[in-house]
Amino acid sequence: DETLGLLLSRIKDVPDYPKPGVMFKDITPLLADPQAFAALTGVLTELCGRYGATKIVGLEARGFILAAPVAVQAGVGFVPVRKAGKLPGATLRQAYELEYGSAEIEVHAEDLAPGDRVMVIDDVLATGGTAEASLELIRRAGAEVAGVAVLMELGFLAGRGRLERALAGAPLDAL
Ligand code: IMP
Repeated sequence: DETLGLLLSRIKDVPDYPKPGVMFKDITPLLADPQAFAALTGVLTELCGRYGATKIVGLEARGFILAAPVAVQAGVGFVPVRKAGKLPGATLRQAYELEYGSAEIEVHAEDLAPGDRVMVIDDVLATGGTAEASLELIRRAGAEVAGVAVLMELGFLAGRGRLERALAGAPLDAL
């Protein structure tokens, strides 16, 4: 519809970034347009309400930019899932496979607890590795997954399929 058209028009395709052969989806024009940014956070906030989220996890780094205003609008807490080594307190850590090698993400253990219903927000779902690892962190903390919401899903990378088991029936929305 009109809102999605506005959002789409503010995403820039950058060829060969960060390396040759990759078409990078750049959301900075969308963030710089207050109407588009507000429309995006509005849609994401609506999803969080629909799925009964009581906490919002943002995935470093662009996920933070989207998840933080959504958490404020939804009236629930924001929890950063960071690349390993950046959080000062006691953490849960989860490794996951990349195309070449592996990576690790962390969350402060005290930020997620049984009884929480957690919505994960990021800009782009690519292979799904990052989102999958974040769902494992949420479950290991004893919390429930309310859903995953992303602005864009790169369908040809099949991230949705990779996430299926970790979602365990929870919704994955790609705007
Ligand atoms: P995945 O783990 O392969 O799904 O990669 C997802 C992560 O990589 C997300 O946190 C995205 O922000 C980032 N990412 C992958 N491709 C793009 C892109 O084209 N534009 C912006 N971010 C991307």
